[in-house]
Amino acid sequence: MTETLERPASDMRTENGAVDSPARRVAAWLSDFESALTAGDAEAAAVMFDADSYWRDLVAFTWNIKTVEGPDGVRDMLAATLEHVAPHGFVATEEPTGTPDLTEAWIEFQTQVGRGRGHLRLKGDKAWTLLTTLDELKGYEESKSQRRPMGAQHGADKNRKTWLEKREQEARELGHTTQPYVVIVGGGQGGIALGARLRQLDVPTIIVERNERPGDSWRKRYKSLCLHDPVWYDHLPYIDFPPNWPVFSPKDKIGDWLEMYTKVMELTYWSSTEAKSAKYDEDAGEWIVVVERDGADITLRPKQLVLATGMSGKPNIPSIPGMSGFMGDQHHSSQHPGPDAYAGQKAVVIGSNNSAHDICAALWEAGADVTMVQRSSTHIVRSDSLMDLGLGDLYSERAVASGVTTNKADMIFASLPYRILHEFQIPVYNAIRERDADFYKRLEAAGFQLDYGEDDSGLFMKYLRRGSGYYIDVGASELVANGDIKLASGGVEKLTEHSVVLSDGTELPADLVVYATGYGSMNGWAADLISQEVADKVGKVWGLGSDTTKDPGPWEGEQRNMWKPTQQEALWFHGGNLHQSRHYSLYLALQLKARQVGIPTPVYGLQEVHHLS
Ligand SMILES: Cc1cc2nc3c(=O)[nH]c(=O)nc-3n(C[C@H](O)[C@H](O)[C@H](O)COP(=O)(O)OP(=O)(O)OC[C@H]3O[C@@H](n4cnc5c(N)ncnc54)[C@H](O)[C@@H]3O)c2cc1C
Repeated sequence: MTETLERPASDMRTENGAVDSPARRVAAWLSDFESALTAGDAEAAAVMFDADSYWRDLVAFTWNIKTVEGPDGVRDMLAATLEHVAPHGFVATEEPTGTPDLTEAWIEFQTQVGRGRGHLRLKGDKAWTLLTTLDELKGYEESKSQRRPMGAQHGADKNRKTWLEKREQEARELGHTTQPYVVIVGGGQGGIALGARLRQLDVPTIIVERNERPGDSWRKRYKSLCLHDPVWYDHLPYIDFPPNWPVFSPKDKIGDWLEMYTKVMELTYWSSTEAKSAKYDEDAGEWIVVVERDGADITLRPKQLVLATGMSGKPNIPSIPGMSGFMGDQHHSSQHPGPDAYAGQKAVVIGSNNSAHDICAALWEAGADVTMVQRSSTHIVRSDSLMDLGLGDLYSERAVASGVTTNKADMIFASLPYRILHEFQIPVYNAIRERDADFYKRLEAAGFQLDYGEDDSGLFMKYLRRGSGYYIDVGASELVANGDIKLASGGVEKLTEHSVVLSDGTELPADLVVYATGYGSMNGWAADLISQEVADKVGKVWGLGSDTTKDPGPWEGEQRNMWKPTQQEALWFHGGNLHQSRHYSLYLALQLKARQVGIPTPVYGLQEVHHLS
């Protein structure tokens, strides 16, 4: 019997008859790239990139989160970093795929101090996108899998301490007789995920949280809240949600998970503790952080301070004439207790994004007479369509079945540079618009002003650019379309004792006014805790510099000030949605670990400050 070895369809013969395959193209590119890098030849490496190309680096080369563009950007970055990074060992980790027009490969590599992973896309024989990420530091690998701790200490030892005794000793000492290397202010999901990473990396850390219990920042939100993102997108580091976990977790359930997680990940979590002030002592190279715990002030002196105080934590409450004279209840959406007390009453909800819709729907369900005031256009996407067309290939049961683990999905997402991400998003939202055309038509007929992002790129781009301006529809839109939730449009002129008056003179009688008016920039937390001077030095947090509404230019290419060095030494910001908290906590933790153990961390391309808030 004769056997023929079948070549994949993507393999083809070149002019001289040699077989060209994705694997060969990638191997050839990686080999030439490595030769250029090991020769210290930034120019030779730069010309291997297409004129229209992007290299996104998460800490591995730059000790920063940075995207450089085109051969010029690559040359500049390599000229500054090659010598100390000493990259080598580039290999593909899976069979590369694609055609000569577009070849894709998962890669790994090493630097002088760490091991990294990444992703490469070639157009022809030039790189179009390259992602490089630092995965672990040599000599400081996490104690997991093959390196998991023994737990038991076999043999005999007269000074034996149990696990519990060691934990109790740590609790007695850390923050009292010994100082943490890191203090994280804010113990929501962001602070907790980062705390878990740092624990694994053996970085002494205290998480300071003013709430009584981990998970309270979710528990204290409005009663009807369920996560808008699906479970596959929401896993925390190290412990995935179990297979019976609901697709959209109710807020109190996620609160309980966070509480359990904090305990089993052995975090030092100071609840009922408020960070009152922080000041950087330049001479000592450490922070002086005053926290109030059990009625007493404690001064902590960490080397690094992380604000994980939430991008949805600092309420934006508008100042409207007549507010102080309003006789009914009024509060920001973050303080909304739920609908129960408002059955039969007239509620006016100012705003038309996620919180506004959720709160309106719950009030309507409870029998209130509800009016939503839409002040500007809103992007709406039906949850089913978003799950199917927007997230389904990466974060879904379907994705898991086809081998796209959460980790892989995170890396695929990270591999698309922000400069071109909208080009991938626009077709998705075009398809959603087509699929849900009737739905959008009915909303418009009810007077709802829709948008799909300024360049039609939809929800994720709006989130990354401004963190607001959308609703993932889980039912409230139907109530708006059919008039059960009444709709009013325009600015709010004033409040009277019993009504809200709009700028066109419309008067809306009200027993309750909810300000679903969003949240302020996270550097407002720095102003509160540290000083206005430091907040201004750091500048605006969040946004890409896309020059769209609420995200002024110039182009930054990465989210401002998030998970990377800021203009204030030893001050960091962490947070975002569960996906971002999970993925980027690794890179922030590695940056902190490197500093703790004295690995040099020269930062390439520290961002400039263009906006104060
Ligand atoms: C209504 C709503 C729905 C959302 N839905 C989703 C969703 O479905 N999926 C998703 O991924 N994201 C969602 N988000 C966005 C985001 O994930 C959440 O806001 C999330 O809670 C952010 O986590 P965090 O840890 O960054 O901040 P937070 O959860 O806000 O935690 C910050 C913590 O800092 C504490 N703190 C602040 N100042 C101090 C101080 N001085 N001292 C001590 N403690 C302090 C606060 O008490 C708080 O617990 C939603 C946000 C909102 C508002």
